[in-house]
Amino acid sequence: MQPENDSDIAKIVIVGGGTAGWMAAAAFSRYFDNGRRTITLVESEQIGTVGVGEATIPPIANFNKMLDISESDFLRATNGTFKLGIEFVNWGQQGDRYFHPFGSYGQDLHGIAFHQLYLREKALAESGAIAGREAVGDIAGYSMSSMAARHKKFARVKPGSKSLAAQIGYAYHFDAGLYAKFLRKLAEKQGTIRREGRISAVHRDGETGDVTSVELDNGEKIDGELFIDCSGFRGLLIEGALETGYDNWSHWLPVDRAIALPCANPETLDPYTRSTAHGAGWQWRIPLQHRTGNGHVYCSNHMEADEAETILRANIEGEPLAEARHLRFTTGMRSKAWNHNVVALGLASGFIEPLESTSIHLVQNGIARLFALFPDKKISPVERDEYNRGMHELYEDVRDFVILHYKATQRDDTEFWRYVRDMDVPDTLAKKMELWRLHGRVFRENAELFTMPSWIAVMLGQNIWPEKYDPMADTLDDVKVAGALKQMREAYNNTALQMPSQTDFLKQSNSWA
Ligand code: FAD
Repeated sequence: MQPENDSDIAKIVIVGGGTAGWMAAAAFSRYFDNGRRTITLVESEQIGTVGVGEATIPPIANFNKMLDISESDFLRATNGTFKLGIEFVNWGQQGDRYFHPFGSYGQDLHGIAFHQLYLREKALAESGAIAGREAVGDIAGYSMSSMAARHKKFARVKPGSKSLAAQIGYAYHFDAGLYAKFLRKLAEKQGTIRREGRISAVHRDGETGDVTSVELDNGEKIDGELFIDCSGFRGLLIEGALETGYDNWSHWLPVDRAIALPCANPETLDPYTRSTAHGAGWQWRIPLQHRTGNGHVYCSNHMEADEAETILRANIEGEPLAEARHLRFTTGMRSKAWNHNVVALGLASGFIEPLESTSIHLVQNGIARLFALFPDKKISPVERDEYNRGMHELYEDVRDFVILHYKATQRDDTEFWRYVRDMDVPDTLAKKMELWRLHGRVFRENAELFTMPSWIAVMLGQNIWPEKYDPMADTLDDVKVAGALKQMREAYNNTALQMPSQTDFLKQSNSWA
């Protein structure tokens, strides 16, 4: 267990055994143990975990691959299902529905972005210039994931396949508690040492201020050189001990409460999350193999808990399977995710409401970033600053994309919706919205998480049409383009119809090796 040289970190301590803690333990014991380091995870059954979090985005598959976890084992262990995107109901206006799909829209033609050709066809139809031509329909008709979701189908094709089904982008719905258990087995097999107990004190070096050990209720001390704080909202080390500070974003994202209430499944499992807007927030519906997860996320300035629970109960589609669970949160992030020798992951590092299912991804990304910047015992401020810069940028990207859903509403039926519709937004988002409003342009800066199709889906889905399309689209013959669009629409629809239902697909996959 000796390090190769004295400057190497030999003891990593992970505080907390929720999804974040066990994801970190599985990843670090796989790649950073090598018989040279000890990885110890401390958790307290008495305190428990947050117990919610069921929907993800596509990069989660890379995390599983990195740990050599087979998709079938993972789905079986976590009662997982496939997620092709999110259906948004009542967001632009009450009665509206749109789909935010994973994967791309259509095909670019001669280097011109598909959505610009689509916008031109729409504009021509509206101006009456192409009377009699078949309507292009909504943009969902040009996405493989949207069309599969519309028909409640799912298929997975071999990499490199020429089938349009290969354009499906997908993530998973799963029971995050079962995922943590699954990862725990793996991490322990890989050498992670698990310690059960409640941490009652955190000790720091008198000179450097670095954390040196955590102390359990029974007086036992666990010392370390690098601490990964996965202690949930309480941020035991990053905030409790280091008082790092929190950037509060609730003026942009004012929802601050959630109620979770799982219920029995319907007969068919929709391969997508549904988000339905209510008077002061929204409701999630997430189909897993064994139950449907539901929750109402709302703003306590505009709605009482009793009313929020009544709305949730009135809008679930099966028998409740548990007591309703009430949670509080403040949207934002730690001013520094990495402070001294403590790196916060998961809820300890911040929280953005689950509208786009990004929290588990933020854990995954934090782990990957820490891999890339893994420090020596004497931590370099440059590496730490780079980690913090990158995490801040990522959180801000997610924040802006989530704010867009509120800002782009036309609802004015409640004070809550009037507030979010009229609020100022961060400059970064204001710029994106203006670029879209002028010529429907979307630019992805740096390694932004949400790509062009995501922005297009939400803007168009919430009725934000650009004033003009990009004039480059006029360089192509509109009759030929209309023909190509028609072909694409038909091909996506036909391909989706040939797929099995997600329910059948899962039945088959239960017999996978
Ligand atoms: P927790 O689950 O809270 O774990 C904290 C751990 O620290 C526990 O093991 C606890 O025992 C331990 N601990 C705390 N204090 C001590 C102590 N003193 N001594 C010892 N141990 C201690 N994410 C998604 O990706 N998709 C979603 O759809 C989604 N939905 C969500 C909905 C809601 C309403 C909320 C609140 C969150 C949602 N999330 C979602 C986020 C997701 O739940 C979390 O990101 C994820 O579960 C990670 O949680 P965690 O491990 O950071 O914290």
